[in-house]
Amino acid sequence: MDSDIKKLTAMIQAFVAERDWAQFHDPKSMSMALAVEASELMEHFTWLHTPAQVESYLSEHREDVADEMADVMVYLLELMAILNVDPVEAVERKMKKNAAKYPVEKSKGNRKKYIEL
Ligand SMILES: [Mg+2]
Repeated sequence: MDSDIKKLTAMIQAFVAERDWAQFHDPKSMSMALAVEASELMEHFTWLHTPAQVESYLSEHREDVADEMADVMVYLLELMAILNVDPVEAVERKMKKNAAKYPVEKSKGNRKKYIEL
């Protein structure tokens, strides 16, 4: 998995380098672009309310939704590379923090924020 992420990051960096786009990819612009792509992902689900509606929608638009998820991940992986953040280490570290904030015995089956537990 780690090497898959490194491979994807290298692919993204090569794509950017071939187009000489690194000059435009400052952290502010990248984080904004990431948020725009996250909004494009949300747009697919905006007016879907039930699991049946989602399933029906995905039967025709799964690849479009996957494309938006990929856009988010592309910007995120590139931003992590720009800021010298290791994706695997960052996720592992954050999941440990999440586990401490949301202990199973207090969190299982409820959606309360950690400050309410
Ligand atoms: Mg997009």
